[in-house]
Amino acid sequence: MSIQLQDDLAHIDRILEEVKNRSLDFLSQLNELPTYAADQQTDPDALAANGLGTQGSLALFQRKYRKLMVASPGPRYWGFVTGGATPASIAGDWLTTVFDQNTQGTKGAGDISAIVEKETIRLLSQLLDLPEEFNGGFVTGATMSNFTGLAVGRQWAGKKLGIDISRTGMSSEIIVMAATPHSSVIKSLSMLGFGSGNLFKINALPGREAMDIADLEAKLMASNDKPVIVNCSAGTVNTVDFDDIAAIVALKKKYDFWLHIDAAFGGFAACSPAHSHLLAGWEQADSITIDCHKWMNVPYDSAVIFVRKQHDRLQVETFQNTNAPYLGDPSENFSYLNFLPENSRRFRALPAWFGLVAYGKSGYQWIIENSIARANELGQYITGSGTFELAAPVRLNVVIFRLRDADRTTAFLDRLNKSGNVFMTPTTLDGKSCVRAAFVNYRTSANDIVIATREMEAAYDFVLNR
Ligand SMILES: *Cc1c(COP(=O)(O)O)cnc(C)c1O
Repeated sequence: MSIQLQDDLAHIDRILEEVKNRSLDFLSQLNELPTYAADQQTDPDALAANGLGTQGSLALFQRKYRKLMVASPGPRYWGFVTGGATPASIAGDWLTTVFDQNTQGTKGAGDISAIVEKETIRLLSQLLDLPEEFNGGFVTGATMSNFTGLAVGRQWAGKKLGIDISRTGMSSEIIVMAATPHSSVIKSLSMLGFGSGNLFKINALPGREAMDIADLEAKLMASNDKPVIVNCSAGTVNTVDFDDIAAIVALKKKYDFWLHIDAAFGGFAACSPAHSHLLAGWEQADSITIDCHKWMNVPYDSAVIFVRKQHDRLQVETFQNTNAPYLGDPSENFSYLNFLPENSRRFRALPAWFGLVAYGKSGYQWIIENSIARANELGQYITGSGTFELAAPVRLNVVIFRLRDADRTTAFLDRLNKSGNVFMTPTTLDGKSCVRAAFVNYRTSANDIVIATREMEAAYDFVLNR
């Protein structure tokens, strides 16, 4: 063993103590740390012949890179759909690294962390009020979750054509329909061989991002018995619009398509009795995407794919890691290795398990309703302001707005983000530049809305007077 490695191993207690102190440093400053790194200069180092050891590396990291660590897990980082990390999920994530399990099967190979993963899926199903009719597993994010759900849908569609796509390759006969899919769905169409240019667009309702169900039905009728996958949005990122899932499920009885629901963050509406109706019927889906590193406040990277248990053979055909044809019942000798894209897998369920066990139903209800309340506060401020206007109603936890003085929207957002006190993202809606603020972090309080609106006014004054 090298000197540095020997020394590190002998002093692991001191190293972990220092990591703990650095962590506390960051976490205790998180409410005030900048949401934007103004100085992004770094000088690359060459690989040393002899390493610095962990203490030396910690010192170098502190000097070089710590300043680049923005408060994205903090209370005023509202860009994209960025969650945070609760104490319980941080605890789970640390232990995941320490235990370093390769989470695959529930039997046999020594490591049985997959049993905990299956239990975590059951707990998550209970949180989201999903029936036990789904298999679930952890993947890195909603992108991979959408990929996995659509991949099993592809295998299902192949069966309708009399082919086994996992063995013989892709068919161009399969139609994927959606109204306002997330960009990662389009990326998945590219990765899966459908072609990102081959999405069959369903019209959205006037002034909305949700699917026009009459248009969906007309297009299903016209699909001439070609197999169809319908990708449904349960929470679009711009206006958090929900497709009418109950109406889509009713059509499923008539037209027999694969229904994939991208509920990356919108699925957590299930935790709020006042909003769970948005998901009515979703338990009839074939596959469902849920992100854990967004509204569940589990650290990156973590998401779940749910697929109906009745499709387990299709799922194993798609992801089995042997060249032998699948034999027997997939629920026996279960292995995630044959269910999901990855082979070696991090014990990714553990941070989510800790969160679910630590906070329970009421804890998550509080997180979800707190975010919704904060979004409504910002929405009310904007409605009452002479400077800004809402671009869409606040339906859940995202506020999309623009300046009345539309030409200054980009300069305003640039100035606002560089304040380092709040972060939002640019977007376009109906071809117009807009700003989005997404509320998903459990730390965000009413006072953060006050701080942010003050910064918004200051940023607008700045661009006006320049
Ligand atoms: C964020 C998001 C995705 C992509 O998720 P990643 O976790 O970034 O891979 C997909 N769909 C929706 C609706 C999202 O909000």
